[in-house]
Amino acid sequence: MSADPRSRMPRTDAVLADPRLVAAVGTLGKGLVLSAVRSAQERARRSEIPPEDVVEAAVAGLPDSATSLRRVLNATGVVVHTNLGRAPLSAAAVRAMSAAAGNTDVELDLASGLRGTRGKGALSALAAAVPEAGAVHVVNNCASALVLVATAVAQNKEIVISRGELVEIGDGFRIPELLGSTGARMVEVGTTNRTTVSDYRDALGPETGCILKVHPSNFTVRGFTAEAAIHELASLGPPVVADIGSGLLTADPRLPGEPDASSTLRAGADLVVASGDKLLGGPQCGLILGDEALVHRLRRHPIARALRVDKLTLAALEATLQGPRPPVREMLEADPTELRARAERLLDQLPDSTKAEVVPSESVVGGGGAPGQVLESAAISVPVALAEPLRHSRPPVVARVEDDRCLLDLRTVDPGDDERLVAALCQAVEEG
Ligand SMILES: *Cc1c(COP(=O)(O)O)cnc(C)c1O
Repeated sequence: MSADPRSRMPRTDAVLADPRLVAAVGTLGKGLVLSAVRSAQERARRSEIPPEDVVEAAVAGLPDSATSLRRVLNATGVVVHTNLGRAPLSAAAVRAMSAAAGNTDVELDLASGLRGTRGKGALSALAAAVPEAGAVHVVNNCASALVLVATAVAQNKEIVISRGELVEIGDGFRIPELLGSTGARMVEVGTTNRTTVSDYRDALGPETGCILKVHPSNFTVRGFTAEAAIHELASLGPPVVADIGSGLLTADPRLPGEPDASSTLRAGADLVVASGDKLLGGPQCGLILGDEALVHRLRRHPIARALRVDKLTLAALEATLQGPRPPVREMLEADPTELRARAERLLDQLPDSTKAEVVPSESVVGGGGAPGQVLESAAISVPVALAEPLRHSRPPVVARVEDDRCLLDLRTVDPGDDERLVAALCQAVEEG
């Protein structure tokens, strides 16, 4: 045997002939398998592993799937976490997406064999959930809904909006800039803390395209404040559009400050726009509900085509609306006493060396919903040094770091994942 490891380096095609790697080419594709092989060869070249181990190292280095997106456990206590993909879908929605993934009758009427209304099932489920809406439409997200409304109703015209509602959604995206990019002119009325119906009235004129009310969904203003109610704005004349943000379809007594589509339409809004992947608990999409003629105008506007949702979104939305309650609802309604009991049960399964304890915790809705509202919860508190190894476990666990402790808030963890959470903690302790 040669002393130089390079001369013992197995050839790439010899490594690729290993049956496990042949199978992996079928599930992951050649590119990903090749890069696992190349990095194993590279390690052997640097003498980190003997050349004889290249095949094993390549197999061990294969990714789990052909996408780099990974499932993570959300132990942050933030129910709708934008960085973690917002609402986790229900099992019913996941099945619906999988069924629609191949060829599907998204735009075909199987009974007649003729072209059908795209996404009819999802649209009728949405209409049925909000009977106050004369018509409904679905686009890519709430930002798309705003773009469509502004383009169709207020291009080269004015959108009248309160200075207290010039909201930044996140990541530097600001609603007034988004609307302005469509060619609508923003007319700001009132002040940061107080805007009255006469402020709006004074700003109306022949150039007014619509009045827009935006729910301040990620901050609160308290103290000396005033805002005009939808029913007051509805009497002014121009169409009133309400961006309610979170996508609650009907009022939820647990979230008293959160506007919902039904009540907002009943109060006189002509259009309501909202996100599908916040409190509704569905896929990313933008819901548009309201006046039949207006919704029809939006749907037929040329830009609507650029904002349309795909079959997977329609499938998941319909299943979210028709199927069992989505995880977001379960998480919002979880009882703090039961969460605590669950935390105690998990604690019992952890080795003493974890230095874990059960502590009260405060979850939040997050992701642009119910700002300032706290949901009493329970967490497993572990040393802050475990936060990083937890993020590297399989599946990764994302916790909340608070007061130099790492908190695993159980409200946002599916009880079906409890065993995985315990396993990840045990592994993190071993490595730490
Ligand atoms: C979240 C939010 C948006 C943006 O919604 P996307 O679906 O992310 O585009 C717009 N307006 C309000 C009030 C929001 O809360």
